[in-house]
Amino acid sequence: MEKISIKEARRPESIGRQATLQGWVRTRRDSKGGFSFLELNDGTCLANIQVIADAGLENYESEIKRLTAGCSATVRGEIKESGGKGQATEMQAAEVIVHGWADPDEYPLQKKRHSMEKLREWAHLRPRTNAFGAVMRVRNQISRSIHDFFQEDGFLYLHTPIITASDCEGAGEMFRVTTIDPANVPLDAKGQVDYTQDFFDRPSYLTVSGQLEGEIYATALGKVYTFGPTFRAENSNTSRHLAEFWMVEPEVAFNELDDNMQLAEDFLKRIVADVLSNCEEDVEFFQKRIDDTVLETLHTIAEKPFHRVSYTEAIERLEKSGEKFEFPIAWGTDLQAEHERYLTEKEFGAPVILYDYPAAIKPFYMKCNDDEKTVRAMDVLVPRVGEIIGGSQREDRLDVLEARMQEQGLDADEYWWYLDLRRFGTVPHSGFGLGLERMVQAVTGMANIRDVIPFPRTPGNAEF
Ligand code: ATP
Ligand code: MN
Repeated sequence: MEKISIKEARRPESIGRQATLQGWVRTRRDSKGGFSFLELNDGTCLANIQVIADAGLENYESEIKRLTAGCSATVRGEIKESGGKGQATEMQAAEVIVHGWADPDEYPLQKKRHSMEKLREWAHLRPRTNAFGAVMRVRNQISRSIHDFFQEDGFLYLHTPIITASDCEGAGEMFRVTTIDPANVPLDAKGQVDYTQDFFDRPSYLTVSGQLEGEIYATALGKVYTFGPTFRAENSNTSRHLAEFWMVEPEVAFNELDDNMQLAEDFLKRIVADVLSNCEEDVEFFQKRIDDTVLETLHTIAEKPFHRVSYTEAIERLEKSGEKFEFPIAWGTDLQAEHERYLTEKEFGAPVILYDYPAAIKPFYMKCNDDEKTVRAMDVLVPRVGEIIGGSQREDRLDVLEARMQEQGLDADEYWWYLDLRRFGTVPHSGFGLGLERMVQAVTGMANIRDVIPFPRTPGNAEF
């Protein structure tokens, strides 16, 4: 008998088919009339399928009536029209094979709902809950849309390295990669660690961004994007920071800041439109069970034009807002999550792209404006999450770039290859980084970033 997914079996077109379904039991209910209802889930969709197992089945008393939440089973039979609410189909079982039992006294995922915090302790079992199943299906859809969006537009998927010796201007604290034995550290004549004896002959790290390598390829191939894991060793225990997260970074030759903003807006709109049309059931779940502003946020991103506001104007608006912020605000300071959220949620009620930030709070590679105070940076802010994208037009003038590096105390010799891009055929170019997990948060309403990645890495947490 053909194996089909529960997602497929739930469609009305499947009525009348003989099929094999396989999954995990969510609940069992015995009826007085001499049969049992099993709710079976296989993760292909949020909903379960109802299986009707008659007392006449050979293992009814010995096995079927002992099934509990978490047991695994194969069920064969006919898919029938269901009279039940919220389901078009059900399965009349001709055979139920039990693969694995789950002792109800020990299996933690019983009827009782657990907190997200508690579920983090069971990172190996939480994918079997409705919430995590839904998050992972949406995460998958977003990843697919990311590739579709760029591939359809002629972008080249670039694999930038995970191990790197450059620190991308200190986008964040870095994890060191080394084969030096911590119990036996080689020292040089000055008593410093002798990295020439390390694996790469130099200090090396896990990447904080693929941007610099992205620029190398964009200035040869035009439009590229990287999409991969990124690492930051910041000790920040917030609901929107991870030590290991996934970042998408397009980089485009001949794009100026306005083109970059348009690309970011089109990109976010496309992802959200795909989620709305392909993940309807999961989105409805988030709206009902996780956060009742999810749908509004999705429609806001998909339909409203993004406001483009300079940093300077944003500061003026924040100063005039009369809001009580925990962190004081003044021209020259970086915005905190509370300021970002105020702007997108209350001041504009739509996504906002802030641009032209003070040079002093941004990295050396961002293009300087003529005012000599600001750079062509842009951050995209969305409701509830705040900053979801950070990007800029890159400095394409060799002399200005060198001056900026000096200002920030960077050694130009170490970036000789980066400077070469400005020496040989320099072009205006721009790019940005979208944190995948922040996008999943925005779309699902999940409050904590630890709950939108399969295995969250945060300070003190890497068990599994
Ligand atoms: P923030 O100010 O929110 O800490 P950032 O300015 O350091 O972020 P960027 O270096 O601009 O971040 O990185 C680009 C994008 O990557 C951010 O807009 C965000 O979506 C995502 N991102 C950055 N740091 C993290 C992190 N620690 N965990 C998850 N996502 C992150
Ligand atoms: Mn940023």
